Formats: sequence, structure tokens, C-alpha cells
Amino acid sequence: MSFATGLRCKECGREYPHQPVNICEFCFGPLEVVYDYEAIRRTISREGIKKGPASMWRYKELLPVDSEVVDINAGYTPLLKADNLGRYLGLKNLYIKNDCVNPSYSFKDRVVAVASTKAREFGLKALACASTGNLACSVAAHASKANMDAYVFIPADLEQGKIVNAAIYAPTLIAVEGHYDDVNRLCNELADDYDWAFVNINIRAYYAEGSKTIAYETAEQLGWKAPINAVVPVASGSLFTKIWKGLNELGMLNIIDEVHTRMFVAQPAGCSPITSAYLEGATRVKPVKPSTIAKSLAIGNPADGYYALKVIRESLGGACAVPEEEIAEGMKLLAETEGIFAETAGGVVVAGLKQLVATGAIKGDELTVAFITGCGLKTLEAVVDKVTPVIKIQPTVNSFEKAMAEHKKNKKSTENPASTRV
Ligand SMILES: *Cc1c(COP(=O)(O)O)cnc(C)c1O
Ligand SMILES: [Zn+2]
Repeated sequence: MSFATGLRCKECGREYPHQPVNICEFCFGPLEVVYDYEAIRRTISREGIKKGPASMWRYKELLPVDSEVVDINAGYTPLLKADNLGRYLGLKNLYIKNDCVNPSYSFKDRVVAVASTKAREFGLKALACASTGNLACSVAAHASKANMDAYVFIPADLEQGKIVNAAIYAPTLIAVEGHYDDVNRLCNELADDYDWAFVNINIRAYYAEGSKTIAYETAEQLGWKAPINAVVPVASGSLFTKIWKGLNELGMLNIIDEVHTRMFVAQPAGCSPITSAYLEGATRVKPVKPSTIAKSLAIGNPADGYYALKVIRESLGGACAVPEEEIAEGMKLLAETEGIFAETAGGVVVAGLKQLVATGAIKGDELTVAFITGCGLKTLEAVVDKVTPVIKIQPTVNSFEKAMAEHKKNKKSTENPASTRV
């Protein structure tokens, strides 16, 4: 059995047994998984973790699963020292946590791995979700592995790459005319009537726990320590709050020293309700109508916005809103300096990092981790017109050399400062 003893309301503290419910019936606060940390402390160790599988399941003691897991090998992704990008930005100690390389190409595999396992434990008939794109892909993939039906709801204007990447697993794929917030509202209504596991609605408390593993891995890969700064792309705020929770759990369990990480929210200017609330000094988030090319972050009414704001304040962190036209530049910069092709959310993180350094919120020598959460092949639309043009030639040396001479000439006249090698 797991060390997760049940659910607890984050607002009134009322406790509940494990069940596919995410809202307190007394105060409507969100429910969170509760653990017996004393028992975990007696069991868990750095050595034990090291002997575990090369996936997020090496931290099973800190996850709420009781049965055989639905496993497509999510997690244990690379943490890379980003010296080239760091030099460009003026950061000596920059790391990239590269979650593009998960099985369905985003960090969502971490949350869905836990949610789908739990859904099966609860005996629910199908997996379902309201998605901004990546969740659709991950739910459909995990449903294949678990031999479950999948009902995946997406906004109709989603990128082609995400639609195909979800559709390939053959879920029931439903495009809703509206924004994510409309999709989410619809799914909340459906969740009352259908015996399905909506992974980010009725299973949300369990789902959210999966995100902690990106923090555990980062600490382990840094040689068992927390970073000074964490820069995180934020939509609902779930990932952001769970990175903070994960780091603090490791601190509390003495796996790492006391945590002094400053948590930074990165949002696109076209949908930055949490950053706006932070900059206004508000404690509640005012919903917005999203209009951003970073569709995976296009949540105008973030479910965990209130808690994300609390984490920013508690951690002495900050928040930034990235101008829309800088998102593709951020994607290109990451690719050209570090060889990582991230989706638009990654562009938001890189452009956000640049802004946070420029304003002095992040200092040059501080150990900083940028969380890159999804793969660029899913959002080709964002950069297809902005990348290096292809040089077409005949299959002859002569044609090649002529083209090269031409290319050299053009290159000199169009050198782009953002793409200057550093
Ligand atoms: C879902 C998602 C996020 C963050 O989502 P939260 O709702 O804030 O947990 C970040 N990046 C990508 C690529 C995503 O798909
Ligand atoms: Zn309550």
C-alpha cells in the first residue's frame, strides 16, 4: 500500500478517504493528497531512490498509487547544463530540465501516469480530460497502454501537431468551439453524469501529485540540492505549485537541505492572469480571455491561480509576462544555443528568463533551472516562417558551390542578432 492516507481540503482541512472527487463538499475548496511522512521518512533514502527505475516511478513512495502502475516510462528526463544559453543571458549556472523527451513529448505524462493508475484503481470505465493540447496526447497514450477508452476534449483551434499527436492513439477526440475555459466548464458538467476519470477534474488531486516528480528529479540531478531559482511555464498553476511542494517534501524528509528556491511564473502576455495579479499585489486572480500563440498555457481562469500566487510570495519569487512576439524568438534561441526544440511554452520560459535577468530578479551566478515542458514539433506553426531557409541545389558540386557563394553573401546582409553564435 502507498503512504497516501487520503484527501484533505486545502481550505477547511476536512479529511476524506481516497475517492475520485476533487472538491470539498463543505466549503468547495480543492482536495489534496495527504501522506504519512513519518512512515515515508523511515523508508526513503537517496540510495534507495538511485536503485529505482529510470522513470518517475523511482519516487513511488511519494506518489499516491496502490496498484501496478500505467507505465509508458514517463519522467527521469535529462537536466542539462546550459552554458551557451547561459552566456547569452548572463547566467553562469543555468540548467535546462528537458521534459520535451517524455513518451508523448510533454511533462503531462507525469500527471497522467498517476491519474490513469488511480482511475483504474477506482474502477472507472474510461479516461477523459479537458485539454489545452498536451494533456490530450498524454491521456490518449496512457489509455492505449491501460486498455481503457479515452474521451479527450480540446479547443477547436488547437495546433495540428497536437491534434495528430492525440489522434494517433485513437481516442474519442472532441473539438469544442471555444477556449479551454469553455472546454473545462463543459467537462465539469459531464464529470457529474459520466462514470469517467476526468484526469484534471475529478482525479485532479492525484493527477497534480505527478508533477512533483519533475522537482524530485531536478534535485537529484543537481547532486541532491534545490536550485536557487526555478522558472516555470504556468497555465492552471498546478505544475508550479507542485514543484514547490516536491522540493519542500525532499527538504522535510532530509533528502536535501532546507529549500530556499525562488519560484518564478512565466506566462505569455496574451494570457497572463497570474502574473497580472502578482504585479498588482492581488491575492486572487482575475480571469482573462486568452489570446496567445502559447496555446498550452492558454488558461484564462486558472484553477490553482490563488495557490500559485501564494507560492510566489512564500518563496520570494516573482512573475513575468512575455510579449507574444518574443515567444518564437525564445524558441529559436533555445534551439540555436542548446540544441533543444521546445514548443511555445518553452519559448515563454526562455524569453521570461531573459526578462527576469534584465530586471535583476535573477542574478548572474545563481543556480537557476528553466523548466522546458513540451516539444517543438507540436507547435510548428509558431516558427515555420521564422526558421533558416532551405537551400535548394542540383546534385552537382558546381551547383553546391554556387549556392554556397550566394549563401555567404546573403548571410552577411541578414545576420540576426538573436541567432548570433555565442
Ligand atoms: C500543461 C502545460 C504546462 C503547465 O500547466 P499547469 O496547468 O500550470 O500545470 C506547462 N507547459 C506545457 C507544455 C503544458 O502542456
Ligand atoms: Zn473544505
